[in-house]
Amino acid sequence: MSASIIDGKKVADLIKTHVAEDVKHWVDGGHRNPKLQVILAGNNPASETYVNAKTKDCIEVGINSETLRLPDTVSDKELRAVIDKYNKDDGTDGILVQLPIPDHISPHAIIEAIDYRKDVDGFHPMNAGRMLVGQPSFRPCTPAGIMELFDYYSIQTKGKHTVVVGASQIVGTPMAMMISRERDGGKSTTTICHRYTKDLTKHTIDADILVVAVGSPGLITEQMVKEGVVVIDVGINRVADHTREKGYRLSGDVQFDEVSEKASWITPVPGGVGPMTRAMLMKNTLLAAKKAIYPEAD
Ligand code: NAD
Repeated sequence: MSASIIDGKKVADLIKTHVAEDVKHWVDGGHRNPKLQVILAGNNPASETYVNAKTKDCIEVGINSETLRLPDTVSDKELRAVIDKYNKDDGTDGILVQLPIPDHISPHAIIEAIDYRKDVDGFHPMNAGRMLVGQPSFRPCTPAGIMELFDYYSIQTKGKHTVVVGASQIVGTPMAMMISRERDGGKSTTTICHRYTKDLTKHTIDADILVVAVGSPGLITEQMVKEGVVVIDVGINRVADHTREKGYRLSGDVQFDEVSEKASWITPVPGGVGPMTRAMLMKNTLLAAKKAIYPEAD
């Protein structure tokens, strides 16, 4: 079998077109444009790239965005003070602190400092908790984007065995939660694997759907998957490549060339999950502006 490609770029462009139309209606209805505040602390080159891409998306859909750059010496107190200012600002709908933040600051404390009603990344415990109990919440953009891909390509998740490799708070764990939920989710039987999983292949080989979010280039090989598997590669890794102008190329967590020979569907890297993550951020920011998740009265 040779896999069909799940074109995240195409689906993300469609979603952004819908968001742009919605933003236009919203503004035509007498409201101001939604506003996303990005906070970037430190000089992580990958973060710079992500933030630039998010800014470009905002322009495309009519969301105003502003990026506040802070030095990597910023203190926890200073960062919280900045967040608090945007929490209180009626002109700011969404707040995104680009991760990773400098090592001396706890990301958990910073995420909790964001007003959950402006937490368009969906990482705040209020949003994570509400998702767990099936209440409306901002959903983390990467797994939410993957669920949209299943929907767009009519890939059945109900009753399937999904194996999620990687259990981070921002991707693997919420992915497993969304795809396994019986009532308002993917209805999959779900296995979560992580760095302490013994014999990873024993689990991956049994997957009908395999979602990999580890950060280890080429971790998943052809021998680790069964024929016909649906593969979602979340990994974005910079691999040294001196034939490229930048000195590196992007690679996923899956050996694309060999695994795509066995899979039925597969996401490429780049052009798979990445653009979907950003499109879902646009969607969440519009929801925040409309107070669609947390109405004023809440
Ligand atoms: P993380 O470092 O926070 O978590 C990695 C997870 O992988 C952990 O649960 C760890 O236990 C597990 N792990 C590590 N080695 C393993 C192994 N050998 N076998 C099984 N599990 C193992 O990473 P993250 O933030 O979830 O990101 C994962 C990858 O996804 C990275 O490459 C990141 O750049 C990428 N990412 C992509 C997007 C996107 O939009 N496409 C969004 C977020 C993250």
